[in-house]
Amino acid sequence: MDFSLTDDQVAFRQTARQFALKELKPHAAEWDRNSHFPIDVIKKTGDLGFLGLYTNPDYGGLGLPRLDSAIIFEELAWGDTSVASYMSIHNMVAWMIGEYGSAALCEQYIPKMVSGEWLGSYCLTEAGAGSDAASLRTKADKQGDYYVLNGEKAFISGAGETDVLVVMARTGGSGPKGVSAFVVDAHSDGIEYGKNEQKMGWKAQPTRTISFKDVKVPAANLIGEEGQGFRIAMKGLDGGRINIGICAVGTAQAALETATNYVKERSQFGSPIAELQSVQFKLADMLTQTITARQMLYLASSKVDENDPQASAYCAMAKRLSTDLSFDVANEALQLHGGYGYLNEYPLERHVRDLRVHQILEGTNEIMRVIISRQLLQDDGLSNLR
Ligand SMILES: Cc1cc2nc3c(=O)[nH]c(=O)nc-3n(C[C@H](O)[C@H](O)[C@H](O)COP(=O)(O)OP(=O)(O)OC[C@H]3O[C@@H](n4cnc5c(N)ncnc54)[C@H](O)[C@@H]3O)c2cc1C
Repeated sequence: MDFSLTDDQVAFRQTARQFALKELKPHAAEWDRNSHFPIDVIKKTGDLGFLGLYTNPDYGGLGLPRLDSAIIFEELAWGDTSVASYMSIHNMVAWMIGEYGSAALCEQYIPKMVSGEWLGSYCLTEAGAGSDAASLRTKADKQGDYYVLNGEKAFISGAGETDVLVVMARTGGSGPKGVSAFVVDAHSDGIEYGKNEQKMGWKAQPTRTISFKDVKVPAANLIGEEGQGFRIAMKGLDGGRINIGICAVGTAQAALETATNYVKERSQFGSPIAELQSVQFKLADMLTQTITARQMLYLASSKVDENDPQASAYCAMAKRLSTDLSFDVANEALQLHGGYGYLNEYPLERHVRDLRVHQILEGTNEIMRVIISRQLLQDDGLSNLR
């Protein structure tokens, strides 16, 4: 067992850190304040391969292992949580098309998605179908060479600014087996976008509802077979959860670095607060939590890379643990800044606001526990999960 990074992984990390340092971190506060989605900057990352990190290399993706992709996402999130997290969703969408789409669909969509010409959104959630996503009601009726989509999706990241939607819609009976997945042109007739939701964090990317009214989608835009859409959506989320977790860790790392510097500079009662043992212990716990979260995500990534049958449970464990620990680290970093942590001149309050949603989306942390305990309670569950 070797815990050290390969030369390639170190190089990926350096490239991503350089990009984050130059192009993301200096602007993150302003983008947050103005709710600005920096599409131009995101598109630029196509040149570095960051918009198709683990996407099918036959169509221009880098085809990296999840572990390598996670190393890159961590650095991007160190620079800007909201932007990196949107990029992780785009990557998930590009991967789904590359993994399950026909050759023609891949040729049509992937090169433009990995270059950044087209950005993507993942459309599963509906107002009445959140944690119980398999109860979704958006319908896709087959009419000749087309499916006709009707329904409404909620909370869609990037919506209104993206070009490609992967939409999960009902083609059959109730439950997960009646769901299919489609690639939909985001500018199609019959698609309407809601207002940009006013959110606590993740302000540097839009979140909107999308309504579909008699939207014609070519039958060839079905991904996989009819009825496989829910399984495909969940496979996408396995990797997605690693990404959401590692973006939380990148943010925790940034908060920890800021707090470590601050306590050395801030003096009270005649000496730097770093000399107080309670402060030292707090930092020690924050570092331990950050490394624990990162290593758990690396483990889950390797389970996905190895096609381990328990990969979903590992991804759920890693997402739950890493997002909870990272939120706590950012919150403690804010506490170490005292009143200044509460001001938006410092990045801590933004980190806390941004990280809160990582405990909620791509499956809430309660749903992660549902997934873990379901696997655990199966015959041989415990011996398969070690
Ligand atoms: C900023 C943001 C961006 C998002 N982006 C996307 C996106 O791009 N695409 C997309 O499809 N979705 C997206 N989502 C939706 C997100 O995935 C859902 O909000 C999430 O899955 C929870 O669904 P819900 O909000 O309907 O909550 P609910 O399902 O109504 O849950 C409410 C509460 O009940 C708990 N709960 C529900 N069922 C159980 C259970 N069985 N056991 C224990 N507790 C339970 C939940 O954990 C939660 O605490 C986004 C959400 C946000 C906030």
